[in-house]
Amino acid sequence: MERFANATKAALALRPDEPVYCFRPDVLRADARRFMEAFPGKTAYAVKTNGEEMVLRTLFEAGVTCFDVASPAEFAAVRAVSAEAELIYMHPVKAQSHIRLALEEYGIRTTVVDHEDEISKLTRVVKALDLDPTAMTVFVRIATKGEAAYELSKKFGCGPAQAIELLQRLDRNGFKVGLCFHVGSQIEDPDVYDGALKSADWVRKRAGVNLAALDVGGGFPADYGHDPAKEPDVMPSLPQLMSRVRGDIAEWGFADTPLVAEPGRVVVARAFSLIVRVLLRKGRRLYINDGIWASLSDSWTGKITLPARFIPDPSIRQRNGDENAIVPFRVCGATCDSVDILSKPFWLPETIDTGDWIEIGHIGAYSMALRSRFNGFYPDRFVEVTTPFDEGGMPHGFMSLETMEGYSDDLAAD
Ligand SMILES: *Cc1c(COP(=O)(O)O)cnc(C)c1O
Repeated sequence: MERFANATKAALALRPDEPVYCFRPDVLRADARRFMEAFPGKTAYAVKTNGEEMVLRTLFEAGVTCFDVASPAEFAAVRAVSAEAELIYMHPVKAQSHIRLALEEYGIRTTVVDHEDEISKLTRVVKALDLDPTAMTVFVRIATKGEAAYELSKKFGCGPAQAIELLQRLDRNGFKVGLCFHVGSQIEDPDVYDGALKSADWVRKRAGVNLAALDVGGGFPADYGHDPAKEPDVMPSLPQLMSRVRGDIAEWGFADTPLVAEPGRVVVARAFSLIVRVLLRKGRRLYINDGIWASLSDSWTGKITLPARFIPDPSIRQRNGDENAIVPFRVCGATCDSVDILSKPFWLPETIDTGDWIEIGHIGAYSMALRSRFNGFYPDRFVEVTTPFDEGGMPHGFMSLETMEGYSDDLAAD
């Protein structure tokens, strides 16, 4: 992979017309270690966040030895970088053939259920393979409530009374049992973990089984940008949030229970930025070469504000406007469909024009993982970059997906 000091140097050297992902392995290693030092238990990286081989390999080298996987392709992706890494299969709803593959071929011994039919599937496979159930840890996923950019308890997890039944049934069948939850993604309110721990404590007190582990899931927030027209949100830093979570773990009596966390976003977000090119400026609209069907889907669905840096093309001699005026631009994506328009503007210098580049920061989570081949556009070019996105010159503006009341109509009317 080609290496550059920063994305501006990469853009000026390559003059890319296709989007280019800038990978920062040092940042990834540092962020993984930062999480592992702050969390008082086992860290299982959630592979779905970004399952690129370069990511899994770098994480393994940084000391991440456990991976949260959900499908045969994810089992294989982790095995391809490490024969020893532990895999935990934390999808609550599984195909029976995948359970068999997990247990038989990949040696997976940790999984999760949120319904009795999942216990039946698992038990059938365990019997067919003549495995000892005491060698397996089966988590019961409880539903939780709270505010996240993505709320997942509408889809997975069981109520507390059902959790008690499932724990007791698994225990009778000879499995080691645990409790887990996943509160959603980009959690900025620590009370959400507190509420989930409270439910876990309620279930444990009534189930009367020995808990082998508690898995607190993922959801830890990454740092993103903010809208320059608004007050920045007050968001706890990872050390602050983690110190609250550690306190809550102790308060709810889980200090002596082996702990697991499944971070995704917080580990990988800062490890990539993305260079996009302005294919056309039409008034206050920018047409770029990426969009919601490729790298920008997560920021669109999750209403996440991403930081952006202007990379002017030096061959543009004539510019209009004031380079110090940071103004909102409506951003249109690369595909030929009308949905592919970011709902809210990018904030950039008034002088930006056709042919310039934009570096979008902190894009490592749920960007390349969610890209599609829709309309034939599939960003897949990578370079390595050594300087963190936040160093060496502030981003010129902020890409904003937040509500910009008053602006939208002007922008649409153009
Ligand atoms: C997606 C997912 C994660 C990772 O979530 P982040 O918000 O990226 O930390 C962890 N656990 C489970 C079960 C998931 O589905």
